[in-house]
Amino acid sequence: MLAAVSTPSCSPSPQATVVSRDRDDACPGALRLHAADDGALARIRIPGGVLRADQAEVLGRAARDLGDGELHLTSRGNVQLRGLEPGCGADLADRLESVGLLPSWRHERVRNIVASPLSGLDGQGFADVRPWLRALDELLCASEAAARLSGRFLFALDDGRGDVAGLGADVTLRAAPGGGAWLRVGASDAVAAVRFEEAPRAAVLVAEVFLETTDGRAWRMSELAGQTGVLLSETVRRLPAAEPTARPAWRVTAEPPYGPVTAPDGTTSLSVLAPLGRLTAAQWSELTASAVHELRLTPWRGVILPTVPVSRLPHLTAVGLITDPTSPWVGVGACIGRPGCAKSHADVRTDAAASLTRADGLPVYWSGCERRCGRPRGDHVDVVAKDGGYQVSVIHDGFTRNTNHNPSSLAAAVTAARTHDHSHDQ
Ligand code: SF4
Repeated sequence: MLAAVSTPSCSPSPQATVVSRDRDDACPGALRLHAADDGALARIRIPGGVLRADQAEVLGRAARDLGDGELHLTSRGNVQLRGLEPGCGADLADRLESVGLLPSWRHERVRNIVASPLSGLDGQGFADVRPWLRALDELLCASEAAARLSGRFLFALDDGRGDVAGLGADVTLRAAPGGGAWLRVGASDAVAAVRFEEAPRAAVLVAEVFLETTDGRAWRMSELAGQTGVLLSETVRRLPAAEPTARPAWRVTAEPPYGPVTAPDGTTSLSVLAPLGRLTAAQWSELTASAVHELRLTPWRGVILPTVPVSRLPHLTAVGLITDPTSPWVGVGACIGRPGCAKSHADVRTDAAASLTRADGLPVYWSGCERRCGRPRGDHVDVVAKDGGYQVSVIHDGFTRNTNHNPSSLAAAVTAARTHDHSHDQ
């Protein structure tokens, strides 16, 4: 059956208007290392953030043997190794490949997939998205065209609870009540209903049509202003079956809670936060030792340990992982800053740690410069280092508000910005 979508039904323009770029996408990967001030950096894509325990052990050993020993979680649930020795690329690739972390060298930078980290563990959502995750990753790696995607193009697989649906992915699949799925293109209103088992193929088709439409000149769906609906219509036209739909309400929820998570059958899983996404060798070893069969890295720089008893929580707390949902670390993020990044005006991680206060309210993100690498989507407090000080602003409904330049007390300014009621701000 041909799908009906909330968008015009015609072929996409072969002359799609896209941003003209004068450089290639230089996004780092596991095979394309980035030269940082603290050594080479590798970004290893972990689709859905799901790591088997043996894969986690190999990553930890690689960090210790080749890098500075730490693992850094990204806002897409990927892992970065820093401080890598020059010339270690082949050794790193061998280690990753030996445990299935490099299933396709040509696709290693395009396996950007976030997935609801608690899917199937807490009785929430409408479906377990793990079958989608496996199928999407396999289809991506089998698609010659998809190898041309930029390292920034993002897929989101949401089990219906609305967590990763709010992360601004280029293609989002969201489980629907009653066993179906919604397919959304970018942040637009371009939404179609697809059959659950058809959904991963539909997501890859969107990416392939995107590449055809832009001839590989665009990196993200947001560069196709006004054309995402046409792109979706062309995608759905090629699907063997789909169901008509009206655009659903796109409710978005917050990050997973920290501490024990209980399933309807009483089984527990553990949810922990890595302060600023940085995991020491001791913390990673404890997580790996606690895992029963896998770890799930979250886009909020946390780790879920599925089906692990509550008795492991004190071990995780003892190495400095956050297991208390009221911790002042919850909602605090930062880029790498000094000394790892030459562009940074400050050691933002140290300054963020020194400014911690308990603040129920907006998340806060500290950046060492205006690029704001890794900043969150949606409303948040934006703290940016400048020449000679910091600027604290509130990002609310896409607008920058209440900017405070060089406040006399950073901690007080950040807390005030996080807890102020911004709903009446103009
Ligand atoms: S935001 Fe600026 S300082 Fe921070 S990592 Fe990115 S480029 Fe470096």
